Amino acid sequence: MENHDALTSLKKSLSSVSRLAYQRGLTTGTGGNISVRLPGGNLVLITASGVSLGETDETNLISVDLEGNLVEGSPGFRPSKETPFHTLIYRIRPEVGAVVHVHPPFATAYAVRGLAIPLLTASSYGLEGIPLVDYAPAGSRELAEYVQAAVTNHPRARVFLLKNHGLIALGPSLTAAYDLADLVEGTAKIGWLSSFIGANQ
Ligand SMILES: [Zn+2]
Repeated sequence: MENHDALTSLKKSLSSVSRLAYQRGLTTGTGGNISVRLPGGNLVLITASGVSLGETDETNLISVDLEGNLVEGSPGFRPSKETPFHTLIYRIRPEVGAVVHVHPPFATAYAVRGLAIPLLTASSYGLEGIPLVDYAPAGSRELAEYVQAAVTNHPRARVFLLKNHGLIALGPSLTAAYDLADLVEGTAKIGWLSSFIGANQ
């Protein structure tokens, strides 16, 4: 009963964080995927493939195990195509409770150019050393392997930029991972805006 209540509560939280990420402009179309570790640690609730984060609700979330095998989900919905890197992260980092993967425009623009996001504000100083993961097609085994290597090689990193793609933010909770993704995007925006001020003076 306790676990059932926890599952219901996490479904609500995952739905609302997903819709918030979409409304906030952290992703567009059907891009991005978000997951949360379930009580017990060996199962993950993740957003569905082909469903916009803006349309995510309790009826289209999927449960998988840490190998990515389907455990529970409504008929007609499949887990996100990026499920392999989500489950790899949970296996490598037992302290991670949630993974937010989005395509926010300013942070992604830095990832496209292969440039570090300038950390210019007090709230961004703790973001130092964001690794850049090499490009591989979205949903590919290769991308999951690149993410696995980056997460393993940077055991303290909580944010990863994906070349020509977006970012991944890790946190102990959904709120923490979401806030981190939002902070990285806000930081990238300030970096871009401030580069224009005084540039022609
Ligand atoms: Zn993506």
